[in-house]
Amino acid sequence: MAAKNNFEKCLYCGGCVGVCPVQAITLKDTRLIIDPKKCINCGACVSICPVGANKVEK
Ligand code: SF4
Ligand code: SF4
Repeated sequence: MAAKNNFEKCLYCGGCVGVCPVQAITLKDTRLIIDPKKCINCGACVSICPVGANKVEK
């Protein structure tokens, strides 16, 4: 499983994009895409998010 973004909570601040160790997160305008093929479920994007918009699913 890969991390998921809740678009209803996300502020598109870009904070999580830079912390992903495998560059799985792409932010384009108001679309945040997490590539499930790249994501290694490390949880870094979850910890950094100020509004809890990202979730790691096991
Ligand atoms: S869980 Fe880790 S690898 Fe997956 S998108 Fe978030 S920061 Fe990147
Ligand atoms: S850190 Fe949180 S609010 Fe900011 S872009 Fe990432 S998921 Fe959205």
